[in-house]
Amino acid sequence: MNTEQSSEFFARARKVIPGGVNSPVRACKSVGCDPLFVQQAEGCTIIDADGNSYVDFVCSWGPMILGHAHPAVVGAIKETAPFGTSFGAPTSLEVELAELVCDSVPSLEKVRFVNSGTEATMSAVRLARGYTGRDVVVKFDGCYHGHADSFLVKAGSGLITLGIPGSPGVPEDIVKNTLSIPYNDTQVLEETLRARADDIACVIVEPVAGNMGVVVPEMEFLQTLRSLTEELGIVLIFDEVITGFRLALGGAQERFGVLPDLTCLGKIIGGGLPVGAYGGRREIMDLVAPDGPVYQAGTLSGNPLAMAAGLAMLKVVRKPGFYSELEEKSDWFAGELAAISARSSVPTVLNRIGSMMTCFFVEAPVRDFRTASAADTKRYGQHFRQMLAGGVWLAPSQFEAMFISAAHDRTSLEKALAMTESSFKKLAD
Ligand SMILES: *Cc1c(COP(=O)(O)O)cnc(C)c1O
Repeated sequence: MNTEQSSEFFARARKVIPGGVNSPVRACKSVGCDPLFVQQAEGCTIIDADGNSYVDFVCSWGPMILGHAHPAVVGAIKETAPFGTSFGAPTSLEVELAELVCDSVPSLEKVRFVNSGTEATMSAVRLARGYTGRDVVVKFDGCYHGHADSFLVKAGSGLITLGIPGSPGVPEDIVKNTLSIPYNDTQVLEETLRARADDIACVIVEPVAGNMGVVVPEMEFLQTLRSLTEELGIVLIFDEVITGFRLALGGAQERFGVLPDLTCLGKIIGGGLPVGAYGGRREIMDLVAPDGPVYQAGTLSGNPLAMAAGLAMLKVVRKPGFYSELEEKSDWFAGELAAISARSSVPTVLNRIGSMMTCFFVEAPVRDFRTASAADTKRYGQHFRQMLAGGVWLAPSQFEAMFISAAHDRTSLEKALAMTESSFKKLAD
């Protein structure tokens, strides 16, 4: 595989961008290779700067549920751009998208658009603190909520991938207000919430964890989370930045029938452009400025191009049958993948829900950060490199999800399965 162009770009990038990348996991450090620079993508195919093509299972880390360069999304951007790309004043596109988002996600009565998932979670926590008058945030080990200070405690995503427990630059004074407890542990959850009820503003959770690899919640855990927070007057925040518009039109909350007080959205909501959102019960959202005292703002928030792309995406996924088709395809693919694992002597555990999954190189079931951390990341790195050489683009980390989009066709999925089988054979040797 010729990667001359990518190597050249990377050498230049390293001189002017830290690590040569604008987000750490892209550097591919944990899988032992240099990043490939992308030239273009269409559907489920991504092409690098040297012209190599791959079946893409990263899907921009989740957003591309329709596949790359979907005609409806690209068309909406083209139609909108000639009329101006930012005004700093309201537009009808924002209203239309807000109406559709509130109609799609069960617990949303009002929603505010921001520019990223990080902004959404940061703002939701500020709002929860403003609403309750309390300071402490409870999160779960291995969950990732973006890179705001309060969340960089035992966090997932790039922090697990690079083995960073927290981050310098985050004051102790801030971290002392963050409690991180094990995912899927109902007993520790109950003890913690009862012991600190008077100090806890909110619990923030990925209703399906996607940033320590995919970890599905136990029903009892989610239900206890809802009933306890309600009882103790703690705001429950679902960080649905990955799961929103992924696991169902209404996200994980629709799928599990558990409704949070506030929801954070990102990734898919912008159709591949930078959009995040937070929303929830009217009574809480009415505290946001200018109606209330909790300040949150953004020069480019509600950007017309991004709103147009989000609207176009949402109109496609709202068509009847969209999610059942995606589910069926993912079901079939995961079944084949599990069969390949079963035939192989390499121990793996496949965690999957809907169109997101992670194949962990581990022996025991993965239900939290501790059990995920047992995965053999060296072996994953080898698998990653073998798959890449065979034309399959996986996440450059064991602790991320593999995403299936509406654009993944049977031929591409079969190619990925065949490559997986041959990669597992090499791993076993
Ligand atoms: C990606 C992600 C974020 C952060 O979103 P950015 O757009 O990268 O800032 C927050 N929470 C979850 C669950 C995510 O997966």
